[in-house]
Amino acid sequence: MEAARSTTRASGPNWRPTVIGTGEEIGDRQVLLSAPVVWPAQGVLDRPLTTLKGVGPKLASASSEDLGVESLRDMLLHLPRLHRNLVEVTPLREVRAGEEATVAVEVRSAKVRPTRKRRLTILEAEVVDAEGAAGKIVWFNRPWLSDRLEPGTRLLARGKIGKNGFAVAEHEFIGAGELPGRAPERTDREVAGDRSAGEHWIRPGRPGGTPPSGIHTTGLVPVYPASERVRPPRLREWAWQAAGLANALAEPIPGRERATRGLPSSADSIVGAHLPPDAERLEQARQALAFEELSLYQATLAVRRRRRRSSARAVALAPPDDRMSDWIASLPFELTADQRRAVDEIDRDLTGEIPMQRLLMGEVGSGKTVVALYAMLRAVYDGGQAALMAPTETLAEQHHRTLEGLAGSDGPRVVLLTGSVPDSERNGPLNALADGDPLLVVGTHALIESSVEFSRLRIAVIDEQHRFGVRQRAELDRKGEGGSAPHSLHMTATPIPRTLSLTAYGDLDTTSLRELPSGRKPVQTRIVEDGGRSDAYEFIRDRLREGRQAFVVCPLVSESVMVEAKAAEQEASRLAAGEFRDFSLAVLHGQQSAEEKQRTMLSFAGGDIDVLVATSVIEVGIDVPNATVMVIEGAERFGLSQLHQLRGRVGRGEHASHCLLFADARSEAAKTRLEAIETERDGFRLAEVDLTIRGEGELLGTRQHGLPRFLAASLPDDLPLLLEAREMVERLLDTGSVEAEILIDAARMRFGDERAQRLAA
Ligand code: ADP
Ligand code: MG
Repeated sequence: MEAARSTTRASGPNWRPTVIGTGEEIGDRQVLLSAPVVWPAQGVLDRPLTTLKGVGPKLASASSEDLGVESLRDMLLHLPRLHRNLVEVTPLREVRAGEEATVAVEVRSAKVRPTRKRRLTILEAEVVDAEGAAGKIVWFNRPWLSDRLEPGTRLLARGKIGKNGFAVAEHEFIGAGELPGRAPERTDREVAGDRSAGEHWIRPGRPGGTPPSGIHTTGLVPVYPASERVRPPRLREWAWQAAGLANALAEPIPGRERATRGLPSSADSIVGAHLPPDAERLEQARQALAFEELSLYQATLAVRRRRRRSSARAVALAPPDDRMSDWIASLPFELTADQRRAVDEIDRDLTGEIPMQRLLMGEVGSGKTVVALYAMLRAVYDGGQAALMAPTETLAEQHHRTLEGLAGSDGPRVVLLTGSVPDSERNGPLNALADGDPLLVVGTHALIESSVEFSRLRIAVIDEQHRFGVRQRAELDRKGEGGSAPHSLHMTATPIPRTLSLTAYGDLDTTSLRELPSGRKPVQTRIVEDGGRSDAYEFIRDRLREGRQAFVVCPLVSESVMVEAKAAEQEASRLAAGEFRDFSLAVLHGQQSAEEKQRTMLSFAGGDIDVLVATSVIEVGIDVPNATVMVIEGAERFGLSQLHQLRGRVGRGEHASHCLLFADARSEAAKTRLEAIETERDGFRLAEVDLTIRGEGELLGTRQHGLPRFLAASLPDDLPLLLEAREMVERLLDTGSVEAEILIDAARMRFGDERAQRLAA
């Protein structure tokens, strides 16, 4: 096949035109200029898999069901998990026992050998290689293959020497001709398809058309996510064929942008990611694809952000007056520097007509509530109304108390609206809201019911924002004053590393509270393994005798809340009869009624209970400064961020606090995680560590933060690429050029509007 030439324009210092499919440099401007122009004919890629040689309806439907691969485009986007490096053919004499190798051999004879075990057959072939060395290779349970092993047959076989000889894991037949010996050093010329040397064993460099021999057993062999019905070798052959059409892929990144970064074209990158000639090109392809998909995702977010900015209008508030500074001065504490910065950023948002969409991140106890109240008071002093929506009644009630306290005796009225507020008590506040009285309202989902009518809603605060869906947040948005959108402040106690906030929340402005209010003492954290438990319990009893209180958090149980509740109850009775029999103890879990939980929490807060045994529900919600010990059972099962949040329940008073991680830290990953929490106090850094250890796909909470699954990008490692993509996208979109349109189109195809909305949930 004649080389299709890349049509990207040449500019920039590092850029060299390359051959599609191999990334081989063309290097000659004249060649490039005389090359045929390739217009993407995208429709080709929507053809079904059956277009490919060797794919019938049955395989096609298996592929669709098992892998979601239906079209040629799907196949091109179905990237290998990894590449096995089988660059060299090893002479038989040099194959070492136990080490994987690929050999190239000619069959002398073959026979199926019966074995004692009924369900085992061994197919044995006597073979020789190019050096004339003789050997024996074997297959287990493949008796039918013997028909194809006529003397003189040549094949490549990958496997290992075991007890019975060289056991073949994968093989492929090769044609007549000289038998491949050791691979000579591969040069770029060979890789690019120059057949003058080693052609019979090096697979030809340019994918497309009939798959050549060697694709399964030599070079960088792609390993695909596969299924029982669609095995990796098939996918390799399909990828090879589909790769020939890669240049029909649209090119979303403008040539100029690729050129300045030295990135190969989209088509080259896709082919390179499947069938790279060498490791360097593979990495180059991966980077280019990562940059491309990060750009597409950023474009999706940027479009959404711009659309919202241009459509919805908010009521611009007057700049803060003396009442606000008086209120700040009246607080029982000084704002931290982070809180002051947050307040400034919010003020800047509120004085504009573009609705504020700000994410306020800060771990439990970092003082988000005061900042939220600041924003809410701004609305009320401006003659408007403000609402705070919390995910649970307990939280709403707690916020209600806190806000009433902090707002001060001469502050505005704070009303509570939850499902359990009786109708008789609802009517007053409902009427006041409808009448446009300036007041603060705190509630649950009840706030977005249609019966709740705000006539002057100017600020909406959403606590634990990830626990609400897009729709619920949009409902609240619709309740803005006179058809305008309220300014929104979204709060989260999960510190999200920058990498995630830029991707998952790329359409929100972010503010973080990293600095804890003064007076908070660092919590001493210790891992306790089995041998240390009794000492640890003794240590806890000492603290209890001093008058302190303790939390015991039960392990995460995945099966169900019911099982989890039961486990917590069992643990509570075990402790009540054993380690803590001299103390008062209560249990808290998700199966209890709201009232029951409330009662328990209040009596724990009041000091009537010494030890509170709980499931991880206590993650949200209670502030008990006298509780100084946090025991976390099965700590290895929690994510770092979660452990850190649980730990944040203690260390809130004047006494030194301790967090004891009861853990079975035998796995390496668990150990690294627990050691990180033992030494690191900054929640943002912990989240970053969590992300690195587990990868963004695994990170607890990633789902809820709606990060899409990327094909090639991997965060946080690709943060520099992400920042670059973000900058480029903003710049391009500002131009409103055709190039921007192309990018947006491609983004829509890849991350679609519908999809993107779900992702932002
Ligand atoms: P969050 O909502 O982030 O969990 P809160 O706003 O509830 O945190 O604050 C936790 C506690 O710290 C509250 O008792 C609050 O009054 C107090 N607090 C907030 N800001 C400060 C500050 N700057 N200095 C001292 N205490 C503060
Ligand atoms: Mg809070």
